Amino acid sequence: MRASKKTSSRPKLRSKKDGYALRCFACKETYAIDDYGKFYRCKACGNLLEVKRTGGLKKTRDAGSRLGVWKYLDLIPLWNEKNIISLSEGGTNLVECKNLANLLGLKSLYVKFEGQNPTGSFKDRGMTVGISKAVELGFNTVMCASTGNTSASLAAYSARANLHCIVLVPKGKIAMGKIAQAIAYGAEIIQVDGNFDDSLRVASEICESNHEILLLNSLNPFRIEGQKTTSFELVEQLSGRIPDYVVLPVGNGGNITSIWKGFSEILENGLEDIVGPHRGSKAPRIIGVQAEGAAPIARAFMAGRFDSIHPVMNPHTEASAINIGSPVSWMKALAAIRDSRGSADYVSDEEIFTAQKLLASKEGLFVEPASATPIAYLSKIARIGERSNEYERIKTSTVVCITTGNGLKDPNALLKDVSPASLRTIPADAKSLETVLVNN
Ligand SMILES: [Zn+2]
Repeated sequence: MRASKKTSSRPKLRSKKDGYALRCFACKETYAIDDYGKFYRCKACGNLLEVKRTGGLKKTRDAGSRLGVWKYLDLIPLWNEKNIISLSEGGTNLVECKNLANLLGLKSLYVKFEGQNPTGSFKDRGMTVGISKAVELGFNTVMCASTGNTSASLAAYSARANLHCIVLVPKGKIAMGKIAQAIAYGAEIIQVDGNFDDSLRVASEICESNHEILLLNSLNPFRIEGQKTTSFELVEQLSGRIPDYVVLPVGNGGNITSIWKGFSEILENGLEDIVGPHRGSKAPRIIGVQAEGAAPIARAFMAGRFDSIHPVMNPHTEASAINIGSPVSWMKALAAIRDSRGSADYVSDEEIFTAQKLLASKEGLFVEPASATPIAYLSKIARIGERSNEYERIKTSTVVCITTGNGLKDPNALLKDVSPASLRTIPADAKSLETVLVNN
């Protein structure tokens, strides 16, 4: 990877469309962007497609006046701004966590709090682009399979775009807050008697044969284009510094793919007049963290394998957002880990819940269980201490954890151990309160 100072040394384009193609991640075969939805995978080899910029940048006059995801419109393959369907997503806070850094013996720790997005998760970044592109391509119906956050996000953006939204969810495996969101936004919800992987298989089969319905799971490359803006924001929020480490939860592998794509684009193309000046030419190491009961990517990495995974047939973790045994973007995720000189690991559910409470009680950030996996990972390597090579490097570095969803989406997970009914109750008079405080 090289760093260049200029945004583009390529020739000016006649239209934005001329500068983009869909490219197979494996065999590099290319296709026209606007043919997406007629097929979802490479026709030559069956692998996933990605958006690739093939020409110079076509600058938009007023992109700089926008905030959040659409600030980076020039780097997103949408041709007509009129098609943008937005809820002002992105632009989430980057919170420096000094209390937690002290506790874990780290020099510099930040949390990118993606629970601040309009529907409470990072999925909104990808969905605003995915739905805008669905509108541009002329679709009236969209579908996804979901562990919860994707369905909430798709339902919200579909409502705003007047699209018919169908979501497939694994029966009984969705957090209460998330299913409530999908119901409120008016999606057609269908429960599948199986797990997430079964739901995605069914949704894919229908969308591949019925070209009236656009599939909006994270294999949809336009969603990746929206999610990559997280990396652009990180560099801007760190005043042009590229972090040394980015640690994030991994379920289906879409977000780790996006984060790496964002940093790759900065380092390959400069992009200084879009994301601002940045220092250094070194990419961050990307660390993907999975739950122990659903960790095919981490286990492949640990076995030194980057060309295949062993899917987990019956994945199990209480962190429902990453309860995925057969991640669709595994190849891209492992490439992101390898190319960034990063790593992958897994943590137990117990470690996840401890980390969730730690982040809330030490920093005031309440995230859903899956989002606590990066903190659980840092706690784990801090515990191992000097016996962990990674910890020795991390403790003197700038580390950013991506927390993907708001804790309010899944309150039941936390309330399993603490029932509100068991909390101390006093009669409604000051004397009783005084007695309690004196006896504390
Ligand atoms: Zn191919």
